[in-house]
Amino acid sequence: MTDSHQASLFSEADLPPDLLPWEIAAGEDRLLAEVVFNRPLTTIFQYFVPNELREMIGPGQRVQVPFGRGDKLTIGFCVGLTTTFPPGRRIKTIAALIDREALLDARMLELTRWIADRYLCGWGQVLESIIPRGVKSKAGSREVTFFALASWRAETGQPLGEPGAVRPRTSEQESGALRHPAHPEATSELDLKLPAKQRAVIEALVAVGRPMRVDELAEAAQCGTAPIHGLRDKGLIVALRERVMSAPVMPTPEAHREIRLNPDQQRAVDTILSVVRASEHRTLLLHGVTGSGKTEVYIRAIEEVVSYGRQAIVLVPEISLTPQTIRRFASRFSSIAVLHSHLTDAERHGHWQQIASGAVQVVVGARSAIFAPTPHLGLIVIDEEHETSFKQDSTPRYHAREVARRRAELEKVPLILGSATPTLESFLKVLRKEDLHLSMPSRVERLPLPPVLIVDIRNDPAIAKGSAIGRALFTSMMDALKAKGQIILFLNVRGFSPVLWCRGCGEGVKCPDCDITLTYHKERAVALCHSCDRSAPLPKVCPKCGKPGLLNLGIGTERLEAEVKARFPNVACLRMDSDTMSQRGSHDVALEKFRHGEVQILLGTQMIAKGLDFPNVTLVGVIDADTLLHQPDIRSMERTFQLIAQVAGRTGRSAKGGRVLVQTSSPEQPPIVRAAAHDFLGFATDELRHRQALKVPPFSQMCRVIVRGPDEKEVHAYSDKVGELLRAAAKELALDVRILGPAPCPVTRLKANFRYHLQLTSIELSPLQKIWLHAAPKFPSHPEVEFVVDVDPLNLR
Ligand code: ADP
Ligand code: ZN
Repeated sequence: MTDSHQASLFSEADLPPDLLPWEIAAGEDRLLAEVVFNRPLTTIFQYFVPNELREMIGPGQRVQVPFGRGDKLTIGFCVGLTTTFPPGRRIKTIAALIDREALLDARMLELTRWIADRYLCGWGQVLESIIPRGVKSKAGSREVTFFALASWRAETGQPLGEPGAVRPRTSEQESGALRHPAHPEATSELDLKLPAKQRAVIEALVAVGRPMRVDELAEAAQCGTAPIHGLRDKGLIVALRERVMSAPVMPTPEAHREIRLNPDQQRAVDTILSVVRASEHRTLLLHGVTGSGKTEVYIRAIEEVVSYGRQAIVLVPEISLTPQTIRRFASRFSSIAVLHSHLTDAERHGHWQQIASGAVQVVVGARSAIFAPTPHLGLIVIDEEHETSFKQDSTPRYHAREVARRRAELEKVPLILGSATPTLESFLKVLRKEDLHLSMPSRVERLPLPPVLIVDIRNDPAIAKGSAIGRALFTSMMDALKAKGQIILFLNVRGFSPVLWCRGCGEGVKCPDCDITLTYHKERAVALCHSCDRSAPLPKVCPKCGKPGLLNLGIGTERLEAEVKARFPNVACLRMDSDTMSQRGSHDVALEKFRHGEVQILLGTQMIAKGLDFPNVTLVGVIDADTLLHQPDIRSMERTFQLIAQVAGRTGRSAKGGRVLVQTSSPEQPPIVRAAAHDFLGFATDELRHRQALKVPPFSQMCRVIVRGPDEKEVHAYSDKVGELLRAAAKELALDVRILGPAPCPVTRLKANFRYHLQLTSIELSPLQKIWLHAAPKFPSHPEVEFVVDVDPLNLR
């Protein structure tokens, strides 16, 4: 789903009134379904439920209904049933029911509604986005016939048992009326005079106590299929059509060594378990330095909730879904589901069904796994809670941490947020005693944190000549290799060089569609825009002034790799970035090579900065610590601190020790100095004071409104109108909200659109929401300008 509908927000006012003639018989007992659509609408629409669907429809199912101009048949989500008529509206009738069973339960419906309210989008948009496509299309399932005793139909009690592996909730109509035998009287068929083989079939069904596939049944009764069909013809057993799917394969567990928790870990586990046992919701910030053994804490807590027959959800950044992480969970739990972005629709559907059936103990996955339909959730964990990938950057623009908080609250279960570098949002909640703080300030087995050396590269002769690796780092690399240690080099820029510089214009060559300089990718021989992915053959002359001889300025990972290969000719080196690791699995292969020592130097982007645990890494080099520092973003300091602290966490993980060299041109910058001193508290205290003075998050709530379109004048004019309407709303509602802008976005042009933005801040979120809901319906509709609202924006570009 994109934001492209956003421009029509609240435009149901423009829709023609419901024109379908409908004779409402007074006093008649009519049922209405409340329906929402995949549109940016806050309205819930009502539709009559035809009698034949009365018994089948319920919240969480999709329906097909006439909607909007021309009564186009449209799919919507039923979110409730009512008998109360809305006054003065003509009401249309549901055309079809799409799902036989609810796609989600009442609590998940409530959660999705909360997301729509909080993130200012349509409830139907949220539902459409969070239910996987494969679940909606029932991908990978097939119909199979099961046989059951006819007498089961009549009994009350449990629904028919579990034939086959996993039964989706989409069983055929016929089976819905059947009941499982609650009493042994169900064996009354045996009183009849039956041939021995048919008798054996009945006995097999009674013994197993659930419907069976024909092959299972024949095997159990030691007969062919004829007696089964004979019984069916006599009406003693019935055939049921069921949709089943093959169960997804579980990761293979690996033997694990017994770990004795250290006192910090034990204290953390005890606190978490006391919250679990109290059956209440609390959020706990597990603030443990890199290598402090946070995962072991999660696992112990999960073991406890699993022992109560409950499930746990563990969110990790997509990049951390490595076989190493998965094996750690798989070795401790008999059934886990791993939800990553490369699943096929059928796989996703299979996992969804298994999770919903309660068969999965632990769901491990990226952001969207927060919506896993666990029937009896016991605990939620978010590892590396500071990762920005937990925020979705298309509608619904939710943050998985906030959704997790809400879900944990609704289900009265604990939420654990784990990080070595918590966000200031989470840290402030701890300081205010809203959340619990679990501190693990040292590494396991008394391993020290690695010494971090800040290297000022402003006067480095090698760097001055255009090298990526300065003198100090080069020497350290030689020493590390001599001592048979491995090296990680981190650089936040992919490609060969991030700027193609024209001496004539005195500036870099920009993407024709974006306000972004093109990056030169030597291997692909293209100039690539990292914003819109547009690639063009490398220009020989400046497209603006025609002057030849463009310079490659700056250093990306490709160039760094070339340099490493040239300066360390006999050392195996491997590059990891999204260019080399585009295929699923390549990431894992590369990391295994490094683990086994086939590779001595691993270099790459963010991909290698996080979570990796390699004991033989004795040196980490940060090529340029300043890449995030100078961005126009309130969080640039915080992100720089996080990055250095996380990268430093990749070394010193064994008795061999390790050290970190950070190359920078800003050696006195606080985030760099504090990260080098492993001083989170010092950094957080200063930075919080600074943010408080500026009244920016986490001391205020923020909404960002982006207006975009192909014509700058139109965009500018529209954004002025948006600003006027928002300010008028603030005044009218007498709400204390600060509105900045409109102003051009830092990236003024993106994907051929001009972009202007406004920033709304307030101490609480609700005034911002109220102003938005008041003003947005008045935004004029414009064929070429659209707007987007981003609540709690993390990306301010
Ligand atoms: P973090 O997530 O805090 O960086 P990990 O959970 O990855 O740390 O743990 C780092 C390593 O320490 C892992 O290999 C883990 O098996 C090991 N470990 C965890 N707890 C203990 C312990 N109490 N004693 C010894 N080793 C431990
Ligand atoms: Zn572009």
